[in-house]
Amino acid sequence: MKLLEERIIRDGAFLGKDILKVDSFLNHQIDVSLLEEMGKEWKRLYEGCEITKILTIEASGIGIACMAAREFGVPVVFAKKSKSINVGNDFYSAKAYSFTHQNTNDIIVSKKYLTKGEKIFIIDDFLANGAALAALVDICKEAEAEIVGIGIAIEKWYQGGGDKIRSLGYRIDSLAKIKSMDNDVIEFMD
Ligand code: 5GP
Repeated sequence: MKLLEERIIRDGAFLGKDILKVDSFLNHQIDVSLLEEMGKEWKRLYEGCEITKILTIEASGIGIACMAAREFGVPVVFAKKSKSINVGNDFYSAKAYSFTHQNTNDIIVSKKYLTKGEKIFIIDDFLANGAALAALVDICKEAEAEIVGIGIAIEKWYQGGGDKIRSLGYRIDSLAKIKSMDNDVIEFMD
């Protein structure tokens, strides 16, 4: 998606070798119009597919998922990274190593909001090594919900997580796919 690629070039910042900082439009301050266009693009790509719910993970996935959900006309459920008392005990859980925080979280989703046979579109902001996504996939499997597709805002393709999950048979549509990122030179896949 050209609009997102151009925005990354214009406003993205590099933090160390593998971290792209996009907190002026995606991860901290949010450009809602850009998110709206991203939602429309996923809706266009999934025209004709039955989707009953969008699943994401807190925190940065939520805004993106909500804008997409407006296009699809479905609710959003987000996986929580810590067990708060109001979730109760009836939840699915999976372990996810956090690339940015360098720790392992148990992520959880209440069984009330993810049920057998639902048609799920998973959304997240970044795809790097694929740990966060693999945890969301595990949760859907546990719930016996069907994953129709996966929408990623920015896939750092060279880190390999996307292709690992594609090789399991899942469809992933990344709106910006980074082929290489070297200091401040960024190359996108065609
Ligand atoms: P993975 O689990 O695929 O290794 O990493 C995905 C998660 O780590 C995303 O949910 C995102 O929050 C975070 N992440 C990975 N790479 C980046 C990055 O370059 N920049 C930012 N801001 N977050 C990232």
